[in-house]
Amino acid sequence: MIRSLRSFVAPLAALVALALGCAPARPAAEGPARAPRVLLIAFDGFRHDYVDRPAAVNLRRLAARGVRAERMIPAFPSKTFPNHYTLVTGLTPEHHGIVANVMKDPVLGTFRTSDTLAIWESRWWGGEPIWVTAEQQGVRAASYFWPGSEAVIKGTRPTYWERYDHERPHAARIAQVLEWLAMPEATAPKVITLYFSDTDDAGHNFGPLAPQTDSAIARVDRALGAVLDGIDRLGLRDVVNVLIVADHGMSESSSERLILLDDYLDLATVDVVDWTPVAAIQPRAGETERVYAALKGKHPALEVYRKGEVPARLHFNAHPRITPIVAIAADGWTITDRARAARRPPGVRIGGQHGYDPELPSMGAVFVAAGPGIAQGRTVPAFRNVHVYALMAHLIGLRPAATDGSIDSVRAVLR
Ligand code: AMP
Ligand code: ZN
Ligand code: ZN
Repeated sequence: MIRSLRSFVAPLAALVALALGCAPARPAAEGPARAPRVLLIAFDGFRHDYVDRPAAVNLRRLAARGVRAERMIPAFPSKTFPNHYTLVTGLTPEHHGIVANVMKDPVLGTFRTSDTLAIWESRWWGGEPIWVTAEQQGVRAASYFWPGSEAVIKGTRPTYWERYDHERPHAARIAQVLEWLAMPEATAPKVITLYFSDTDDAGHNFGPLAPQTDSAIARVDRALGAVLDGIDRLGLRDVVNVLIVADHGMSESSSERLILLDDYLDLATVDVVDWTPVAAIQPRAGETERVYAALKGKHPALEVYRKGEVPARLHFNAHPRITPIVAIAADGWTITDRARAARRPPGVRIGGQHGYDPELPSMGAVFVAAGPGIAQGRTVPAFRNVHVYALMAHLIGLRPAATDGSIDSVRAVLR
């Protein structure tokens, strides 16, 4: 009886609302309609197989009620800024312009991730990050750290954003994100980014297999647990799609696997813009062939390319910021010079590095997701991170910008 009454009253109310020129009201007991949201969380350098390390309990719990990818394939070079920005734009670095963590531009000068003025400079950042897509379609966005989120891009910043602070306690990050989620439906951001660096820090300092890396996995996993508990307390499990991603994996490096550039090249005659494991080399005018001949085929663990001849699958040729010579170290190798190598402490030193060929399993990143738009209890084959933008736009219902990715490539992730 109540049901049939409501089915009669609701269309009537909608008709009245339409006549009055306002949106149809929903029955009070149901509250306002809750649009799906995306919470994109990056664990820097969280290799795909870390999910199976004992400490990753909350991550496995999330995967059990959602989707886990065998791995996510980063963009080349498998570095932090290029890949975080690929994740949110759906563009490869040769198309979005963040071609390295350290790069040069004839007009803008040098970009370094530690240089606040550079990361605030709009002209470094091409493409359209998901928060710009959202804001420009009237949907609010928030960022608790993400490369690009501090710059005004296409005239737009996320409504809420934070200045990057490596030391900011996890608790502060989580509390703010939960505060954003708890805002009233009308003002709450529908796409939120959150970032943790622990696994990258430990991976570099101690290597991917070290106990210190297990501790870092435990710390970010506890952070995830706190976020998920908060979402449940707010009653938002059926509203928030939680996406856990990494920018790249981590490979074990060793002081026994060094490529010494000055064994082949007088370093006073070139500008080595970025060193390892991808050396971006700017020769003097007219000297590209000399430098190419000096390096090509000289070390078995070093691939050397002229700009334009980097293998097509790496998508690393088009952008003006890519140097005339690109040299790529084999997995686990470090490009350096004699002076730097001599400054290292004696004895074999093990650490970790990334930046290598994205197809290497060591560079594979984590992808785990769960939420109202995500399939339940499914493992999907490896996919490239250029598709994550399209996935997020689809989950929130935004019209996506043109990208290098597509929703069709990640349909298996959807419910
Ligand atoms: P990588 O050199 O590729 O290992 O970069 C990792 C480092 O990037 C982290 O340890 C952070 O210090 C830094 N980083 C990550 N996100 C940001 C950001 N949004 N702004 C500035 N620096 C960042
Ligand atoms: Zn990183
Ligand atoms: Zn790193």
